[in-house]
Amino acid sequence: MEHCICGKSKSFVDCCGPFLAGTKQAKTPEQLMRSRYAAYALGGYGDYLIATWLPASAYGLTAAELSEKTMDWQRLDVVTSSQKGDHGVVEFNAYYRVSPESDDMECMHEMSEFSRINGRWLYVGARAD
Ligand SMILES: [Zn+2]
Repeated sequence: MEHCICGKSKSFVDCCGPFLAGTKQAKTPEQLMRSRYAAYALGGYGDYLIATWLPASAYGLTAAELSEKTMDWQRLDVVTSSQKGDHGVVEFNAYYRVSPESDDMECMHEMSEFSRINGRWLYVGARAD
């Protein structure tokens, strides 16, 4: 079975690919979260990250810097995702390799918040807990 880079047991072209290519829009906060993880993991998708970020939250960030692969992302586990009206929360663990010389991984845990504005889901930011 093929896996998308976001961890779903679907091929990239049936999962995050169309979102990153701009041919489809995420219908749920989880779809958007997964596609944004894919954008970070692949690198080179700074424009997509900016386009799916609440403008006020993305203030000062540039597509060029967001296109850089700063972390070696290895795996994504979505813990929970929920949606109420135009608001959504996705809790996830994302694992990245600590250094190229080692297989050790560190985990980043986040509760991401999303808002639907004019019919499009946008990343608001990490919930402070
Ligand atoms: Zn995917």
